Amino acid sequence: MRNHLIGCIFCKIAQGIAPAKILYQDDQVTAFRDSHPVAPTHILVVPNQHIDSLNELTFADDALAGHLLNVARQVAQQEGVDQDGYRLIINTGIDGGQTIFHLHIHVIGGQRVRFPMG
Ligand code: AMP
Ligand code: ZN
Repeated sequence: MRNHLIGCIFCKIAQGIAPAKILYQDDQVTAFRDSHPVAPTHILVVPNQHIDSLNELTFADDALAGHLLNVARQVAQQEGVDQDGYRLIINTGIDGGQTIFHLHIHVIGGQRVRFPMG
């Protein structure tokens, strides 16, 4: 179990000490609305413990990784975007466009994606 990182905004949201529109939370993960949505549905799913990025995940995190994905699916269903479809994104590192270095899955839906891959 990794600890929270002091000063990390997503650690603070997971701990309930920074504001966010939380849609789902359990002992492992928190899902909340992105503060600058790029689509009608834009949700972030994060581990409650601090993990910098996908690069820091290990095979010991297999259960957590699966849970993050399953919660992403669940919030997409709760938002009602699952049938029309949605996109999951995990930006990793500078070239990957990561700006917040606490692992998160973007759940984006509610409109047809406009941007190509790459
Ligand atoms: P990334 O570029 O993949 O690191 O994405 C970081 C995301 O976090 C961006 O989409 C931001 O809009 C979002 N974000 C940053 N600060 C907050 C916050 N306090 N609450 C909710 N979303 C945030
Ligand atoms: Zn953190």
